[in-house]
Amino acid sequence: MTDIKAVDAVIEERTDQNLEELARLCAQPSIAAQGLGMEPCAELVKEMLEARGFKVQILPTRGFPVVYAERGGRTDKTLLFYNHYDVQPPEPLELWETPPFEPTIRSGKMYARGVSDDKGHILCRLAAIDALMAVDGELPCSIKFIIEGEEEIGSVNLTPFIKDHTDLLKADACLWEFGYVNKDGVPIQYAGLRGICYVELSLRTASRDVHSGTGGSIFPNAAWRLTWALNTLKTPEEHIRIPGFYDKVVPPTERDLQLLEQLPDPSDEYMERYDLQGFIKGIEGGLELKREAIFTPTCTICGLTSGYQGPGSKTVLPAEASAKVDFRLIPNQDPQEVILLLRDHLDMEGYSDIEITFLGGEAPARTDLDDPFLQMVVESAREVYGVPMLIQPMSGGSGPNHAFIHILKVPVATAGVGYPDSRAHAPNENLVIDNFVAGVRHTARIMVNFGAG
Ligand SMILES: [Zn+2]
Repeated sequence: MTDIKAVDAVIEERTDQNLEELARLCAQPSIAAQGLGMEPCAELVKEMLEARGFKVQILPTRGFPVVYAERGGRTDKTLLFYNHYDVQPPEPLELWETPPFEPTIRSGKMYARGVSDDKGHILCRLAAIDALMAVDGELPCSIKFIIEGEEEIGSVNLTPFIKDHTDLLKADACLWEFGYVNKDGVPIQYAGLRGICYVELSLRTASRDVHSGTGGSIFPNAAWRLTWALNTLKTPEEHIRIPGFYDKVVPPTERDLQLLEQLPDPSDEYMERYDLQGFIKGIEGGLELKREAIFTPTCTICGLTSGYQGPGSKTVLPAEASAKVDFRLIPNQDPQEVILLLRDHLDMEGYSDIEITFLGGEAPARTDLDDPFLQMVVESAREVYGVPMLIQPMSGGSGPNHAFIHILKVPVATAGVGYPDSRAHAPNENLVIDNFVAGVRHTARIMVNFGAG
């Protein structure tokens, strides 16, 4: 049996070394959206895994490659770590206190793009592996890594990759790329992710813009047509009007609601942080807010573009207009189906001239709340954080977990090093070093308990 106290001691003792390695990984840009530094970063990740005795392959996809690695352990029971080596663009650069690709430590935090999302999590897994190897000379279970390079651009090529490599990726459980403690330091387990369907709606009503005095009374106006079309998507009561949109929605169970009840009410925090006057639909807070926030699918206008928006006035009738719209989906909605329903709806409403461009999608998926692996991850937190994880039945965000749960057929659990002020995707992304150490200790326990179970 692994001497977990000895593992903790090694983790503590190696903190500086682990942070140095994390800094090295963060110093290598890997911005998928801009195609910057991707291959060198994949190589660096490969080198770090090989240094731990993993057999590593850089496997092609239709986009950026996947780093795959495996190493046997005390049992054949296999834990799959899903992570990503790509990061979000660092812009706007002027808002960073220190340059995004020059990792800096100040007041107990490391600052760098990717230090939390997701390079801190890659190092968290590696540091746990190091400590277990140092104490036992072997791993408590077999480990596989799938580290993709396109998470921040919607994992567009990951599902086909997984379908093509089901044997290679065969595992008994999967530990997801992220994890957080809440503002009270209590770790949260996300037992699922919402899906997403992201589209651009666009139309053109003339070959070019025209003087509004000439065309205003007699030409179609692209901005108005788009506005009217958008107006058909949702009522002021927030009901999405696309026929069939809600058909596959599975409502929360009693158990889901009980779990939500146990989570802290975030309403005051939201009101304060975002300076809100109130929530939509007359929601005041409590269970209602927690339920609505994740169990209601959305239709969000993310951006609108048409005509003249510069200083002063310009009397012009725009010939083109476009909108970016995302739908957050809940089981068992499907992004491809949503596109079809949306097309039918726009046609029925008389907007066949509006073009739909699919910009990416991920199906929603959840792990069974009673799954023994999920429960073990929840319980393993107790020794590290003093309490077991609180379970949130589903995250409001999205990710490619559907392929893991429904193609590889593994339970997926989350655990990691993030916190509410990680500033992932934003300037001054940071990692609290104490959270990092706790995340490593938790990960080591997950591996030990998984191997023994
Ligand atoms: Zn991210």
